[in-house]
Formats: sequence, structure tokens, C-alpha cells
Amino acid sequence: MPTETFEFQVEARQLLQMMIHSIYSNKDVFLRELISNASDALDKLRIEALRDDSLNADVDDLHIEIETDQEARTLTVRDNGIGMSRDEVVRLIGTIAKSGTAELLAKLQEAKDASSAEGLIGQFGVGFYASFMVADEVTLVTRAAGETEGTRWTSTGEGGYTVETVADPPQGTAVTLRLKPEDTEDQLFDYVSPWKIREIVKRYSDFITWPIRMAVERPAPAPAQEAEDAEGAEGADDAAAAEQAPPEPETLNSMKALWARSRDEVSDEEYHELYKHISHDWTDPLETIQLRAEGTFEYQSLLFIPSHAPHDLFSQANKRGVQLYVKRVFIMEDCEALVPDYLRFVKGVVDAQDLSLNVSREILQQDRQIQLMRRRLVKKVLSTIKEMMTKREENYATFWREFGRVVKEGLLNDYDNRDAILKVCSFATTRDKEKLTTLQEYVERMKDGQQHIYYMTGESRTAVENSPHLEAFQARGLEVLILTDPVDEVWVGSVPEFDGKQLRSIAQGEAELESEEETGEETKAERERQQAEFAELLGWLTERLKDEVKEVRLSSRLTVSPACVVTDAGDVTPALQNLYRAMGQ
Ligand code: ADP
Ligand code: MG
Repeated sequence: MPTETFEFQVEARQLLQMMIHSIYSNKDVFLRELISNASDALDKLRIEALRDDSLNADVDDLHIEIETDQEARTLTVRDNGIGMSRDEVVRLIGTIAKSGTAELLAKLQEAKDASSAEGLIGQFGVGFYASFMVADEVTLVTRAAGETEGTRWTSTGEGGYTVETVADPPQGTAVTLRLKPEDTEDQLFDYVSPWKIREIVKRYSDFITWPIRMAVERPAPAPAQEAEDAEGAEGADDAAAAEQAPPEPETLNSMKALWARSRDEVSDEEYHELYKHISHDWTDPLETIQLRAEGTFEYQSLLFIPSHAPHDLFSQANKRGVQLYVKRVFIMEDCEALVPDYLRFVKGVVDAQDLSLNVSREILQQDRQIQLMRRRLVKKVLSTIKEMMTKREENYATFWREFGRVVKEGLLNDYDNRDAILKVCSFATTRDKEKLTTLQEYVERMKDGQQHIYYMTGESRTAVENSPHLEAFQARGLEVLILTDPVDEVWVGSVPEFDGKQLRSIAQGEAELESEEETGEETKAERERQQAEFAELLGWLTERLKDEVKEVRLSSRLTVSPACVVTDAGDVTPALQNLYRAMGQ
């Protein structure tokens, strides 16, 4: 096939412009991204080869290789993993499939200063395009496992890229960066220096489970420093032999599984880098959770709670981020059997000792041990959230802002943990405009004689505050929870009580408010008098409005507004009607 020239997709082009003009200050992360992709490609090949033994691929020595050329000022990251077909190169490298790209770019345009722009990019994670922070030209040569022809992709990051067919490149992918000249001056950015590469790999990619090798080019005579580092390489003392024999490649990473090590051996930074590899996020997680079990069903797990919600948290495409390993070997990502939907934001690794290496998703769903494990993971995540709530309030506040809406979905179907979930929920309240409240706090503040937990659902705080329903409650000093997330409409109907108190919508029925007060003989008589006085009017209104409402009655709940519409307990509330309408029902 001839060389073809393509334009980048609009979003890709905009993002590339930002990379070229380096709005992200920590350029070292480009290498982490390339290694992360290489590692994913090796995982994929290993699994594909297990699944399909007719696949004509070499899986004997899966590894990552880094090569630098001081003279040409190039850096190459090579893997012998799954590779990409020509079509895949165009689809995967020329476009950004990530949802939320358009919104991100819009926000970036509005970003007032460099640091807020950097924060946004960090939350998004740029991946392969990060190469253009340090390179003025990037070439990718790849051959998909099982195919004979390969593809070369080249771009300067401006405008477009070219794609051509290559006769017989090695299996896997090699990405070569031609480094920008300005980075040479500064030793810190000297990405052709083996010393610098070693440092970056150690810092960001030490836990990668595949060997990351670098053949250190040794000019003869070898400098003492490097001869020492290449321990085990023979003939270091014999300059002539060293020049002829290919330099012994050095493995840069320890490949240690962080989840198998005890917590005091591992730094927070190491945990965070593992998180970034798994989640493709560039920002640190909020919480790191370690979990292990010994005995008949042994497993180790490291889970993370991110510090921000992904852009696609509410889309079907959103993947759960828990990876399954069996005895240190990667088995699958997005293991839905391990985490319920409402904890889909949790990222991490579960490494089980006693599962078969070719276990399938279907088997996992049925497996009793997996179900026990899942139950424990859920409890542990919920207890960690509880702990944040009491010990790390700021983290909890961030957590709730980002993920509260998702957690509340659990109230709908996780009956076993309903109480635990209710305990980690916070709600807006009429009591305080700024501060959220827990149900526990609400219950502790309940007035003498108050029997129920009152709430009102609505589109916004203002909508609820302006509702006539609220008047009587405000007048009596009764606190009302303000629920404005769409999911609130649904769960309130399925949660009967908290701490023995029923949850009651103030927009439903009329009896309960009265029952909160002593209805003395006098008020009763007065009520009857009014009833008689207005009977004719009420009858007339009921008749006139019979297509609109069930009944028109006198109310004691209003103090300012002349009238309000209420629904009977059990009826569909107006907000729920809206929700159903939005869902097309
Ligand atoms: P992400 O890793 O978050 O998907 P990237 O921009 O890093 O985003 O990579 C985009 C896609 O390109 C990857 O999902 C993968 O399909 C493909 N890709 C990148 N590097 C490699 C590689 N070394 N081998 C095979 N595929 C790769
Ligand atoms: Mg990537």
C-alpha cells in the first residue's frame, strides 16, 4: 500500500497543540505512558496466545526495550507485544476515543492560568500524545501478532500524519522519538542519558511486571560508573571484547508486585504510580486500600479511590477498574465480578492464588470464592469511606462530591450493605446552606416528638427552597433534607428507614405533619368550622379541576402561599415523572 497522509481528528489536533506547547510541566511522564502502553500490549498478547493457540506469535521472551542514540538524539521504546494492524494504527493513534474530550478542551480554553490547565490535563491523562511534549517527530513501527506486514506511522504532531506499509518489522511496536533540541541544554531533560532513563523508569514504572531492558552503549574504554552498573556483564575489564560483544542489557525495573509487599516497605509514591498505570489517570488517588486473605483461598489486593470522577462515569462505556491477576500473572482488566456497579470508580488489582489461569468472566460470575471476595472488597471500601468521614474529612468531602451520586445507586440493590451505605451518605439540608449532613446527625438533631426524617426532592436547592411544601416545615423549625440528584428520586422509595425513623417526602400526603403536633380539642373544632365554611368552595374547585387533581382540600401546612399541589404517599412525585420522561418512558 502506498504512503497515505491523514489529518488528525479535530480534538486530537487541539490536544496535540497543547502537548507541543507543553502546558504540562512534568515532561518525564511521557516515558511512563509509553511503557504503560507497551506493558498493556504484552499483557494482551499473552492472553491472546493462551486463548488462541493457532496465533502465530512469539511469546517466549516478552519484554520492553529502551534504546537511546546520543548522536541522532532519538529515544526508542520497543515491545514485542500484540502490535497493531494498519487500521488500528489509524483508529487508535489518530483519534482520541476517550469520552469527554470535547468538554475537556472547552474547559481548557476557559482555564485562566497554567496551573488550572495542567490540572485538567492531569485529570484527563493524555497517553501516547505525551510524546510530543519532548519530541518534534514521533515514528511508530508496529506489526500485529500473527500478521506479516507491518505499519509505519510518522508525525510531527502538527496537522497530520503519514502511514505506510513496512515489509517485515519485528513483532510488536517500536516508538521512536526525535527529541526536541531545547531539552539538551538542560541536563534534567536529557532523555538520551541512560542515567536519566534509569531514574525515570525506577520512579514511574518499577512495578511493571515485564522486564524493561536497556542496552547501555559503552564507548570503549567503558567509564567506571557504567561498568559497575552492568554487574554480571562479562569482559568489562577487556575493552576489545566488550566492544565486539553486544552490551549486556540491563533490566531497569524490579518487577515486584506492590500488592504482595507489606505496606511499610512501599512508599506512597510507588502506590500512586501503580494507580496511574491501572487507571490511566495522571493525578494521585485519594485513598489506597490494602487487603489480603490467607488460608484456603488466598489473595492480595490493592484498591484505590481516585481523587476525581472520570468523564464517563455515567456512560455505558465506563469500565470498572479492578484488574484480576492469578499468581502474579495478569488475567483481565475491568473484572466486573469483583465490584458492584455502584463502586465502579474503584481501581486496583486483585491477585488470587487458587484460580485457573484461563478462568473466564462467566466462570467468575458463578464462583463462590469470588463472591466471598467481592463481599469483602465491598465492605472494605465502605469502611474506608466511613473512616475518611471521621478521620480525613477533606478527603471525604472530595470523595462525596465526585462519587456520592454513584454510591447512592447502591441503596437500590445492595440490601446487605444498605445500612453501611446510608451511613456514608451526606445530604444537603435546610439547616445549613454550606454544610452537608449525615442521617446520623439529622437524627440526633430531631425535635422532641418528631418521628420522621423529612426530605424533599427537586431539581435544585433553589427549586426546593421556593416550594410551598417547605413553608410549614420551616415555620415549625423542622429540618428537611434537600435531595437534588436524579438517583435520589429512586432510592428514597426503596429505603424504608434509617435508625428506626421513616424517610418521608414533605411533598406527599398531609397527615404526618399534623401528627407531629398536639392536635388539641380547640384546633379540631376550629378545623371543623373552617371545613364547613369552605365546603362549597372546595366542592366547586374539585369539580372544576377534576381532570387535573384528585381532590382539593384545606391545608394547615401553608403560611405564605395560597395553595400547593401535593401527591399522596405512593404516588409518582413530579420529579420522578420528569425522570421517567427523561428516560423516555
Ligand atoms: P490509553 O492507553 O489510555 O488507551 P494511549 O493514548 O496511551 O491511550 O494509547 C491509545 C491506544 O493505542 C491504546 O489503547 C492501544 O490500543 C494503542 N497502543 C498504544 N501503544 C501501543 C503499543 N505499544 N502496542 C499496541 N497498542 C498500542
Ligand atoms: Mg496509554
